[in-house]
Amino acid sequence: MNNLVYIVMDSCRYDAYEKARTPNMDRIAIGEKRYSFASWTSPSHYVLLMGITPHKSPVGVFASEVYKEDFTLWKTRLAVEELSFKSFVPELSLTAKLKKLGYRTSARVSLPVLNPFTTFSTHFDDYKLMSDHNDFAGMVDEIKFDPLKPTFHFFNLGETHYPYMLTKEDVPVLHGVHGVFKHLDDDNDKEDIEFFNQAKLDELKEKQVSCVEHIDKTLGELFRKCPEETWFIITADHGELFGEGGYFGHGPIFHEKVFEVPFLEGVVRGAQP
Ligand SMILES: [Zn+2]
Repeated sequence: MNNLVYIVMDSCRYDAYEKARTPNMDRIAIGEKRYSFASWTSPSHYVLLMGITPHKSPVGVFASEVYKEDFTLWKTRLAVEELSFKSFVPELSLTAKLKKLGYRTSARVSLPVLNPFTTFSTHFDDYKLMSDHNDFAGMVDEIKFDPLKPTFHFFNLGETHYPYMLTKEDVPVLHGVHGVFKHLDDDNDKEDIEFFNQAKLDELKEKQVSCVEHIDKTLGELFRKCPEETWFIITADHGELFGEGGYFGHGPIFHEKVFEVPFLEGVVRGAQP
């Protein structure tokens, strides 16, 4: 059975990935444009952890056929015979299925909405909310493979989420947007921050591109630690808006760009760049 490394670049819209230079990701595959099932972190991760990947929006087919085909791909991803949608019943959980197959299941997440007290941690042997929002490097430092059993490593990366690795001095703290929700109920904590102008939004958009490149560099380090039989999936949970339609960010937004995400998968090929 293959090890599985599943990386979700939080909020990374497709064209930010497309513009970024990603020699390490390219060794797996060139990412294609897919669509997330939701416009914000929690519901989107729920779908991903069911074992359903972002969709291609195919026309003229029944939804059930699309799901069926996607679940069948787990045979190739895991190098396990006879996997299908039915194999995931009744839990409909990728983590539960992998555990039943004998995998060690481990997760490192960056966004507090995915903290260990939420249902996302269910069926993981080891689940941790990182103390730093931008710590893919720390996750890679901690990664461990068991020589006796395959491992499922799930990573939710905050680097591509607002504030895109900028410091608090560079951008205002936006509760909720920043991935910090503990002040959301506080009426006395009304945010009196002017909406970003387009020049600032363009600057933030470029910053997200740089964050993808930063992740790609760290990915090289991860490749060095992964056994050969490791299947990678790299995607995003939703996109991000930088002024399109008057929006910034993601969440309560209905706009095509907030659903556009990169998707690539496979094993690592070729020598280190
Ligand atoms: Zn998210």
